[in-house]
Amino acid sequence: MPTQTLTLKLPFLNLNQVKSVEWSRLREANTALANRILAMSRAERRKLTTASFKDSELSSAWVNQTIRNVNKSKKVKVFKRLPLETNNQNWTLHKVGDTYSIAFGLLRGVKKRVPLVVHQANHRAVLEGILAGTHRKGSIKLVQSKKGVWYACISVTWEVPRPAETTRFVGVDRGQHHLAVAATPEGRSLFLSFGWIRHVRRHYATKRRRLQRASKHKTVKRLEQKEQRIIRHINHILSKKLVAFAKEHNCGIRMEDLTGIRNSKQRKATKSRADQNRDLWPYYDLETKTAYKALSAGVPFEKVPAAYTSKTCCRCGAIGVRNRHSFRCERCGYQGHTDHNAARNIGAWLGLSCLWVNRPVRALSQQGIVPVVLQVPQGGVHGTPHGCRPPGSPKGNLPPSWVSETSPKGLA
Ligand SMILES: [Zn+2]
Repeated sequence: MPTQTLTLKLPFLNLNQVKSVEWSRLREANTALANRILAMSRAERRKLTTASFKDSELSSAWVNQTIRNVNKSKKVKVFKRLPLETNNQNWTLHKVGDTYSIAFGLLRGVKKRVPLVVHQANHRAVLEGILAGTHRKGSIKLVQSKKGVWYACISVTWEVPRPAETTRFVGVDRGQHHLAVAATPEGRSLFLSFGWIRHVRRHYATKRRRLQRASKHKTVKRLEQKEQRIIRHINHILSKKLVAFAKEHNCGIRMEDLTGIRNSKQRKATKSRADQNRDLWPYYDLETKTAYKALSAGVPFEKVPAAYTSKTCCRCGAIGVRNRHSFRCERCGYQGHTDHNAARNIGAWLGLSCLWVNRPVRALSQQGIVPVVLQVPQGGVHGTPHGCRPPGSPKGNLPPSWVSETSPKGLA
């Protein structure tokens, strides 16, 4: 059975000043302890147990996790702030009325129960799962935000049903003109664009530039984080809509495999053009969120290589012509929206065709496979445009017979 893990970040309900101050003090003690361990040699560290820190006022369950965390982090030179953490055996979840609370003992021999605030309905469902025994709880971490609010970060794992086998897939393309475009095998499509996000991003970019010039680096960072929050929120909406769309049409989801995309040829070519640069949108984040939501909804999720999906005709497989929003295939005459065409290609991906395309043509002919060669009618598709030369015609002025046929002068 596949499993799903979620980390809940839940604020404590009306935490009093005394507790807040004490937890801050204990966190400092924990950080000092971690730095003491860090100063030891590897051989010394291996022998460490909670008994080595009997003088610490923290209870052994928390010290134990600190030892483990320090040994896990290999690159850290010094800990500035190490949050208090303990494993799943040292905390319990309770529910009285409608209020959830967790019990744990930070100090030796003292166990306290602290109520939590739960805003989201899906978080409530996860907590109910722990109480019912269907969800496994992981470690708990006490963290404090910059504003001073204390949160409990608890990780929870549970089993989800294996998605049903399917051959029908909704393809999702990272559009050139839309944030994401999805298409079913039958050609039903979903365009997700969020037009206003362009304005938001431009607004933040201008603001950042101005602040950067004024060397207000802290403000720049704060603005960046704010923008990121907006973007992540939109990705949540996009992924939710994509999964709902796939479920409605009884399909799985196929997305482009973005591994290594940052060094791709396309990126190098379009890096400087902001309006074309797809790196501007965190698609990897969208992919992760979509995969996660698909798993909970029992929708199959696959990643396929992205090569040639936007250049290939979704009806006949030939390489077509792209012109901004429109795609035209000169072999079968298919015409459609560029992103829609790409989305259908991703959805109908067979594996083999893309492998062929990736191989050099010489290797193909050695294997006796003849690649599709486009037959473009001489002089273009819709008749001969003005001033087009026949192949092999001499350079310089066009012969009069070629001009007269279509030019207004010829008609006169
Ligand atoms: Zn075609």
